[in-house]
Amino acid sequence: MTFPSPQTVPFVDLTWQHAPLQEAIQGVINAVITQGDFVLGQALADFEASFAAACGTQFGVGVGCGTDAIALGLIACGMAPGDEVILPANTFVATLMGVLRAGATPVFVDCDRTTALIDLAAAERAITPRTRAIVPVHLYGQMVSPQGLLALADLYQLMIFEDAAQAHLAQREGYTAGGIGLGAAFSFYPSKNLGAMGDGGMVVTPDQQVAKMARSLRNYGATSKYHHTEPQGTNSRLDTLQAAVLNVKLPHLPGWNQARYAIAQHYDRRLAPLAAHGIVPMHNAAGPGHIYHLYVVRVTRPLSRAYLQAQLTAAGVQTGIHYPMPCHLQPAFSRLGYGPGRFPAAEALSQEILSLPIYPGMTAGQVDYVVDAMVEAVGQPSTFAMQDLQPIPILSTP
Ligand SMILES: *Cc1c(COP(=O)(O)O)cnc(C)c1O
Repeated sequence: MTFPSPQTVPFVDLTWQHAPLQEAIQGVINAVITQGDFVLGQALADFEASFAAACGTQFGVGVGCGTDAIALGLIACGMAPGDEVILPANTFVATLMGVLRAGATPVFVDCDRTTALIDLAAAERAITPRTRAIVPVHLYGQMVSPQGLLALADLYQLMIFEDAAQAHLAQREGYTAGGIGLGAAFSFYPSKNLGAMGDGGMVVTPDQQVAKMARSLRNYGATSKYHHTEPQGTNSRLDTLQAAVLNVKLPHLPGWNQARYAIAQHYDRRLAPLAAHGIVPMHNAAGPGHIYHLYVVRVTRPLSRAYLQAQLTAAGVQTGIHYPMPCHLQPAFSRLGYGPGRFPAAEALSQEILSLPIYPGMTAGQVDYVVDAMVEAVGQPSTFAMQDLQPIPILSTP
């Protein structure tokens, strides 16, 4: 490696994002301490309104985490035991856990091998008279086609509930993530595109009744104090402190997403020659609305993913695999009755995918360093010249 060494490229680095905001964040935290409205306080109401508006929808209900947003959101949308819910096999296990906690029956379907998004033709084939809803996962920050989803939902009278935990302000076909379903779930886990300083989540919905129900469910199933009407109620609220932090961060999100997109484009350009060696970035079918929560490549034979990942680790480049085992093969859910071979694309992808570092603040030089390490790993002389070393322009000032 000719790059100034020793250099390491972390998978995610949040310090760049927090340093310029630290004073503002400390200010709003102090304000909450002074006000003392730690649970269901003013900053939460403010954040719910502004985040829902940013998604192009009306109501936001802050909850404890993204998993709760899926579970409580689905219940609020009317999911009941016996209802079948279609979801992709290749998602983070929380999607499945949310569906199960809502009491519904999960029905897995396969994904598209090039985008890793749910295969809508496979979803259509999985519809039965009991199918009540589809839970598209806007995986890696790319929306599932809203037109395709809406056409399917319309034809079969299905409810759409979006898992938008990786898709804050992602767009496609004129729609914004969270703005197409009867409900949608977001996570504010720290490393998501919009992250809190701890766990957090939100249900967004255009429907007042769904919002009302979600508010009740997160607050012991109460409709007024000590009057409990919903047996599935629990205690799961987004802390006022977390909401206050998120209020400071939200105006920066569009710029952060643009920075991720610019980094992804730089990866795309530099990785193009490696296609011949079996390294192919996941296809972006959404254009600039893809917010690249993750930048994922497929590593195909004869190149070994394990080898490539080890070489990158040795070069100081952290990578990840999202996810190494599809939900239907997880030991906890063998009782659902799916086995190996059921979802060839999801299973193949789980063996091929590799997530490269991406985060706002990552420089073009760091992207080049990652790609150069990959070039070296595939045994090519590094003929790809080091490109611009200045940071990728960030348009994050709100
Ligand atoms: C992060 C994530 C979740 C769960 O969110 P938590 O806040 O961690 O509970 C659900 N679905 C997907 C696709 C996610 O990436």
